[in-house]
Amino acid sequence: MEYVSTRGSAPALDFEGATLAGLASDGGLYVPREWPRFSAAEIAAMRGLPYAQLAARVMQPFVGDSLSAERLQELCEAAYGRFSHQAVTPLVQLDAQHWLMELFHGPTLAFKDVALQLLGLLFEEFLGRSDRNLTIVGATSGDTGSAAIDAVAGRAKVDVFMMHPKGRVSDVQRRQMTTVLAPNVHNLALEDASFDDCQAIVKRMFNDRAMTDRFAIGAVNSINWARLMAQVVYYFATALQLGAPEREVAFSVPTGNFGDVFAGYVAQQMGLPVAKLIVATNVNDILHRALANGDYSQGSVTPTAAPSMDIQVSSNFERLLFDLGGRDGAALATQMAGFEANKAMQLTNAQREGAAALFTSCRADADEMAKAIRWAWENCGELIDPHTACALHAARIAGIDPSIPVVTLATAHPAKFPEAVERATGRRPGLPARVGDLFEREERCATVPGAYEAVAQYVAERASPKADG
Ligand SMILES: *Cc1c(COP(=O)(O)O)cnc(C)c1O
Repeated sequence: MEYVSTRGSAPALDFEGATLAGLASDGGLYVPREWPRFSAAEIAAMRGLPYAQLAARVMQPFVGDSLSAERLQELCEAAYGRFSHQAVTPLVQLDAQHWLMELFHGPTLAFKDVALQLLGLLFEEFLGRSDRNLTIVGATSGDTGSAAIDAVAGRAKVDVFMMHPKGRVSDVQRRQMTTVLAPNVHNLALEDASFDDCQAIVKRMFNDRAMTDRFAIGAVNSINWARLMAQVVYYFATALQLGAPEREVAFSVPTGNFGDVFAGYVAQQMGLPVAKLIVATNVNDILHRALANGDYSQGSVTPTAAPSMDIQVSSNFERLLFDLGGRDGAALATQMAGFEANKAMQLTNAQREGAAALFTSCRADADEMAKAIRWAWENCGELIDPHTACALHAARIAGIDPSIPVVTLATAHPAKFPEAVERATGRRPGLPARVGDLFEREERCATVPGAYEAVAQYVAERASPKADG
């Protein structure tokens, strides 16, 4: 399988190359040259497989020759063996039509673990084949950071530099990052910065020759294709349980960077019968505006109770626009340059019509989030987190045909956001035992000005150069 850039001018890479490269050198994102497709019979034959085996089956076409089928399955067994639920991504039924897909049974209590536990092992596997080091530079609105740090802490040949906007992540989220004291883990709290500022610094570093000549910069954000690939699996797991390939299923996805919901699009392209993908945002609603009326324009970020969705530039949307625009990299490069210059762009008619066929969108304000949390608690006895609440709100008003099951992706454990959950329900969710001593652990974190030069200097003084010796 070959990977091409959405902006058309970076070299094509194999899976190993795309995984280690992260962002393409032309500023685009890597996507497979074409979508692999499973027949209905092949999908039916996946029913009942344990999660790790299903994962290997779904991902094999993307991995190509970079890993043998046996090795891929071993890595999946190792990654998903660390989850606290045997089903890895279990389903809970809420009412006659609505279901929750619980994605928070990994080590750091958010869905990011599903992809990052595997990505950490892929980095180790690929770096072990040569004398390379990798310098991971990441931005987090809260959950990617802890999941990436857990996945690579103490691993050889990898350093991770993780930026978060100072004061804008929850206490649990911050402590899950800053209490990991492994020497290859570097936490940076960026002053006067939003998540979008952190993400822009990451992207700029990939295009800074002074850095890329000395260091092999790698990505753990969902700009890395391998992350999205791993997320495709749970759409298959869930749809199979609910009757696919004979029966259609709809999904409601709390969305920030468009990674998780793009994985649902990929599952549909691979042959899974997905009836609708509901893109749920909080009041930071650039994606809702883009899908509802073609207006992809960056507003300023409003902090909400769902901080992992407090995003106004949605990196993975570029992958969808590429696909819907006939995979014309040169045209998309021009469109994205316009967005970068003006902080705004209009979708083309082809992009709008293509998106409307599969996606719908919805924005939840603070009150609607709280109401959804209360509804789940009072009617179903389930505590849900504020991100999940945005998606449940959207799922319940989307008007999906009652014969089609609607699955809301539960992206974080409610105990990651105890204040918001307690405010809505009067119940304070407790941290699971496996992370119970989080508030007693020592923290380590550097405060750095939210400017590119300061971050680049911090990284350059501490990272290992590309090759050993
Ligand atoms: C990251 C995150 C999201 C948004 O996912 P994207 O892939 O960025 O769209 C939603 N909910 C939680 C809890 C998250 O951590």
